[in-house]
Amino acid sequence: MKLIFERSVPGRKTEYIPLPDVPCPEPEFERRGTKLRLPELSEVQVDRHYTELAGETRGVNGGFYPLGSCTMKYNPPMAEVCAALPGFADVHPLQTDESIQGCLEVMDMTERILAEITGMDAMTLQPAAGAHGEFTGLLLIKAFHRSRGDTLRRKILVPDSAHGTNPASAAMAGFEVVNIPSDSRGYVDLEELKKRLGPDTAGLMLTNPNTVGLFDPQISEITRAVHEAGGLNYYDGANLNAIMGIVRPGDMGFDVVHVNLHKTFATPHGGGGPGSGPVGCKAFLSDFLPGFRVRGEKELKRENAASRIGDVRSFGGNFTVVVKALAYLLSIGREGVPRTASNAVLNANYLMHRLRDVYPMAFDQTCMHEFVITLEKLREETGVSAMDIAKTLIDYGMHPPTMYCPLIVHEALMVEPTETESRETLDAAADAFRDALEQARLHPEEGHLRPLTTRIRRPDEVRAARKPVIRYDFGD
Ligand SMILES: *Cc1c(COP(=O)(O)O)cnc(C)c1O
Repeated sequence: MKLIFERSVPGRKTEYIPLPDVPCPEPEFERRGTKLRLPELSEVQVDRHYTELAGETRGVNGGFYPLGSCTMKYNPPMAEVCAALPGFADVHPLQTDESIQGCLEVMDMTERILAEITGMDAMTLQPAAGAHGEFTGLLLIKAFHRSRGDTLRRKILVPDSAHGTNPASAAMAGFEVVNIPSDSRGYVDLEELKKRLGPDTAGLMLTNPNTVGLFDPQISEITRAVHEAGGLNYYDGANLNAIMGIVRPGDMGFDVVHVNLHKTFATPHGGGGPGSGPVGCKAFLSDFLPGFRVRGEKELKRENAASRIGDVRSFGGNFTVVVKALAYLLSIGREGVPRTASNAVLNANYLMHRLRDVYPMAFDQTCMHEFVITLEKLREETGVSAMDIAKTLIDYGMHPPTMYCPLIVHEALMVEPTETESRETLDAAADAFRDALEQARLHPEEGHLRPLTTRIRRPDEVRAARKPVIRYDFGD
């Protein structure tokens, strides 16, 4: 497919407004020293170009997208319509409080609902993504220990099954990362955790259900042990799809939590678009929260706490993502929140049960919103890897599941169907998974070549990530 610059023809354009027949004033100054080189095309060419590009893109709208940990659920366009309303889309953060009462109410309501779902007392909507939320939450923990003159607490404990952003955020926030091993069941090894706790413990970061899709039944004991050592508990709630409305991180003993609005709460993601990673905390940490709090009953206003950690992003964060989340939450309602979670868990278990006789499960028990397959044996026997199977699934019209995550499972495929898929879709996916495996056993050499049906087959993913080409080279 051609790039838009390659389709450009000098002078080509579509004009709707005739050129003025009166003299136009010249601009008084131009900062740009050279002419802006934009592609020159007619409107229909532009339209066709982007339609073709869209057709090359794989999204939830195009087919099954079981990307574990990422919750690629179908998002109702209704939420987009709400976010595009002029009262939300056309406001400016420097407007007076009086002139944005509706927006402040949206923020206030969203914070209250998220606080209720997570069992926290206060929230900030400022962080722009999950990892950004983690970083913010860790700064709260740091500020808390500092405020008490407790400067020795420099270590954050992170289980080895954690999402990669957890240790990265802890290091970014200036902590030392201490690894906690998992036991053979996939849970936190409680004895090993206790051995690592001490007067240098700042806190623990945990996801529950964890990244292998299991709910750790020792959770109260884990968070209690950390508290007894003087540390705080951070809950990675990037993916809340299995538990929202059913159990609350606040009741499990967590002090700080972030949620990804762009996973659980209806915002399309994955293409680098705007996200939102609100952070909630218990009351004793609320004065450290960044940004402003919405206060007042009838007249809402923005207020800053004096001891806050500062801003982690400008103004109120990615506001339209917040609008989408609220629209989604209000549309599913109080009953819909736990029902969504139950259906997410049901769908994951249904798919797992349709696969477990041929695909070895990393932890063969009832899962939460996702499950992890291990293809170590397949690789030993046939040379076909988890990557090959994932690529094969593209030929069946689906997006591959998450590969090689978590790191503690070898040749891992992490599958999360989400609650928005029908039984027919899950059955078709199960058939595709099974067929892909059969093909791998019959023609292992072909497995390395998959996908066979796409324009680009096996790009150099490392190079694409490390050295992305994002500028058109005019060759001069
Ligand atoms: C996605 C995810 C994150 C990171 O969220 P981003 O918005 O991508 O920064 C953190 N933890 C878990 C468990 C996740 O699934």
